[in-house]
Amino acid sequence: MYVEMKHITKQYGGFTASDDVSFGIEKGKLAALLGPSGSGKTTILRMLAGLEVPNSGDIFIAGRRINTIPAARRGIGFVFQNYALFRYMTVFENIAFGLEIQKKKKSEIEKRVTDLIGLTGLSGLEKRYPNQLSGGQRQRVAFARALAPNPQVLLLDEPFAAIDAKVRQELRNWLKDTIHRVGITSIFVTHDQEEAVEVADEIIITNHGRIEQSGPPAAIYKKPETPFVAQFIGDSAVVSNYECLNGFDSIKGAGKAVIRPEFVKVYKQGALHRYISAAEEGRVESVVFRGNHLDLTVAVKDVSIHAEYSMEEAPVAVGENVTVLIYRLYVFDENRTYLTE
Ligand code: ATP
Repeated sequence: MYVEMKHITKQYGGFTASDDVSFGIEKGKLAALLGPSGSGKTTILRMLAGLEVPNSGDIFIAGRRINTIPAARRGIGFVFQNYALFRYMTVFENIAFGLEIQKKKKSEIEKRVTDLIGLTGLSGLEKRYPNQLSGGQRQRVAFARALAPNPQVLLLDEPFAAIDAKVRQELRNWLKDTIHRVGITSIFVTHDQEEAVEVADEIIITNHGRIEQSGPPAAIYKKPETPFVAQFIGDSAVVSNYECLNGFDSIKGAGKAVIRPEFVKVYKQGALHRYISAAEEGRVESVVFRGNHLDLTVAVKDVSIHAEYSMEEAPVAVGENVTVLIYRLYVFDENRTYLTE
């Protein structure tokens, strides 16, 4: 592993922000720290950067224990969500900044900055100031500036948060390609599961200061290890008394189950043959138009289930009673987790 945390604990006063955190990232991979607000993502990033010191545990980069190495000597680049560019410096000067500090030769600085301007698609904008750039362009400058001193690891704190939706999508794809092209081991913080699944090679899921699960997005999606992960990654609903659901009444268990949107089909009342006994009655709680489908939240018994609804069907409205068919469940029982047939 190129970046590794082993049994890291960090406390602020009596509060545990990181609780026995362990994970590893291979060289050249792009990892996402994903979790709800306050789950400890930024604390992990700050300890890697050397801005916070853990109470216990070890941090390694490239096989070297870095716990006591000061931030400036860790070889880490940082990209913040609010760009943090120098307002009175041009694009060129911003990118050159770290190299000037390192007292590199002028010719070397010019070559490196010109290469990075090419890599980040900023050619022609060298002489502009940050306030003459779009959000996406500013974030590319911040990225180029962080890469300039050739760091071993790049840390990005919510790098897409301040960018509007359409540009964000482009920037995500661009960042993923560029990080792979450069081959730099990178970690970014996000609370957006879609973003993590789309961009990251590895996802590390945080919850209450602990790591719930880590691994490639597809593996996590396919085999969530806890109800929290299933809910967070798959937009699922959690049910504690799944034996009360029609069609699952024969399953006896003591654990929880989750219902993913793709396990559910919603019908207008009367659209389904009556003899299907597994159907449930539901009530539409919310409807969000997604272009080619509707995202519904439907209350069934005491759970709110998410479901997609085709635009080709007769529309449904908030408050309407509907028929809901749940095909399968992901069950988390005391000693095993499984998908029902
Ligand atoms: P967000 O997505 O909202 O940024 P996060 O997952 O990055 O959240 P952290 O910023 O790591 O979470 O914070 C984790 C917990 O530690 C929070 O409950 C926070 O209030 C607490 N915390 C963070 N820094 C400090 C500090 N300096 N002193 C006391 N508590 C802190």
